[in-house]
Amino acid sequence: MDKHLTFGILTVSDSCHDGISQDLSGQGLCQEIDNHFRQAKIIFQDVKPDDQKQIEQTLLSWCLQGCNVILTTGGTGCSPRDVTPEATRAVIEKELPGMSQFMLNKSFAVTEMAMLSRAVCGIRMKTLIINLPGSSKGSKECFGFVMNAIPHAVALINNDLENIVRAHRHIQGGDVGECSAPSKVRIGGAAGRDRESPYPMKKVTEALEIILRECGRTTDSELIRIENSLNRVLAEDIYAKDPVPPFRASMKDGYAVRAKAGSGQRKVRACVVAGDKPENQPLNYDEAIRVSTGAPLPDGADAVVQVEDTEVMQVTADGNEELKINILVKPSVGQDIREIGSDIPANSKVLDKMDVISAGHVGVLATVGHSRVKVFRRSSIGVLSTGNELIHHNSNIAPGQIRDSNKLAIINLLEQHSYAASDCGIAKDHPDAVKTALCRAFSRHDVIITTGGVSMGEYDLIKKVLVADFSALIHFGRVDMKPGKPTTFATLNFRGQRKIVFGLPGNPVSACVTTLLFVIPFLKYSERRENYMFPVVQSSVVPVITNNDVRPSYLRAQVRFSQGSFTATTTGNQVSSRINSLVNANALVIIPPNYKNYTALETFSTILIGDLVK
Ligand code: AMP
Ligand code: MG
Repeated sequence: MDKHLTFGILTVSDSCHDGISQDLSGQGLCQEIDNHFRQAKIIFQDVKPDDQKQIEQTLLSWCLQGCNVILTTGGTGCSPRDVTPEATRAVIEKELPGMSQFMLNKSFAVTEMAMLSRAVCGIRMKTLIINLPGSSKGSKECFGFVMNAIPHAVALINNDLENIVRAHRHIQGGDVGECSAPSKVRIGGAAGRDRESPYPMKKVTEALEIILRECGRTTDSELIRIENSLNRVLAEDIYAKDPVPPFRASMKDGYAVRAKAGSGQRKVRACVVAGDKPENQPLNYDEAIRVSTGAPLPDGADAVVQVEDTEVMQVTADGNEELKINILVKPSVGQDIREIGSDIPANSKVLDKMDVISAGHVGVLATVGHSRVKVFRRSSIGVLSTGNELIHHNSNIAPGQIRDSNKLAIINLLEQHSYAASDCGIAKDHPDAVKTALCRAFSRHDVIITTGGVSMGEYDLIKKVLVADFSALIHFGRVDMKPGKPTTFATLNFRGQRKIVFGLPGNPVSACVTTLLFVIPFLKYSERRENYMFPVVQSSVVPVITNNDVRPSYLRAQVRFSQGSFTATTTGNQVSSRINSLVNANALVIIPPNYKNYTALETFSTILIGDLVK
């Protein structure tokens, strides 16, 4: 249902409209929608003054364009200019008093001042309109109170039977009930378990190929605010709405003049600084206008003379203002003037589809007047730890317990690469617990990363539960690498939606290395990044390490570049439980299997996972 939810956010505030204060409430609501309605789209956002006619017109126009939900923030109080409820009432065809009442009741628990709110909720055509208070905190809180009812209300308004049933299930906690049904997996005796993994071993490159082939690249895009657009992939070419600069501007602190009059004396007619309106009287040959950098120039001015190239000839009686100056250096036409559109012409293409948005891109978007931008959609990611021995990292350990470190390490590793992931908790090694945790994770996320429970023990249940309870397809269950051998990749269909599962090994280093080698390239590939692999260089390794394993080793190391070559120093003991081997590691050095007698001169493929050190 969320998939089709479209929102309009209307901030009603004189001061925001006049640019005196910032529209934090509108921004906050966008964030809340992004957080809670994963598939929702904000198709309209605007700021209007507390003016009934303007509010009504905006509401009507958004209703006409089929927006599902309009949230207004502001103008619901008792001051003379507060008219949002009146505008809303004039527009709606049916009132929804229950919704505003509920919001009010809940608000009383927060502040008795809620009694001064006059918020109205109602329906016009197919659009639900909800008045929220003006404060950023209040608007978020009240939105939170009614949020769960929104999909259901929209489904009812649109007479959408299928989604009404789903929304009912959601509201009544049906998800939880369904997820709590027991697993089909039974834990057998240890004697009966497989002695060898039934899953064929895949090479690392082969495994990644399978992942990328199975998941493909998204074609879905979404409109997001440019404040949140860093590192996203542009899904559209961007054209300048306005020229930059939008007016003829001075590049220096100095004097706007007519160049033809040459050097010599000028009367200082006025002073115009950045932000002022331009002088509307054209400039005469014997005049100058004192200007600051960024100030608009008057008609007739065709040069700016920097203050360093002038001297004062005459001042006002109080000695404060300049009346006449002398220009020491002959100006030339166009000198120190930024013509309209000289940086960016109006309607010119400024950014390309497929660009990964950098700080520079955000600057360009802001300057040419795009407050929202179309980017390729990202998957929503959940991370789940499994293991009877695990406790929350905040807790004290009892005998036999360890703190869950994988979940936080992976969430932060993803964040380092700009991907947000949610904490899906810890599941005990029991089929019912694993099933319930997976089910809940699937109902919230597209991509689930689990750690632990993919090896050969009778309590390693991830693959079994995925297959038995979710009819998952295990694309591979073993990879030829050290660490990371039991890495598992599966896809499945959950309530009509495709889910992707990375079942990573529990050892902390294995979990992180496989996140780096498989999950991060997959995330980059699926959002259509052209460069989705970490760069690979050749490096020599110190100290010389042998690999006695039949699998290639991915050693954690610190790589330096000096005198034209890369040298990797391994980060101590490389056992897969020792998470400290990842601290300060900026590379994974690949040592081929059974590799013993190599010299310090030999070089190895080295995956750069961080910044080079000096
Ligand atoms: P498993 O893959 O479940 O057999 O776990 C392998 C090893 O990793 C065991 O020693 C676990 O205790 C440890 N381990 C599993 N999950 C975590 C976790 N979330 N945090 C830290 N260590 C873990
Ligand atoms: Mg385990």
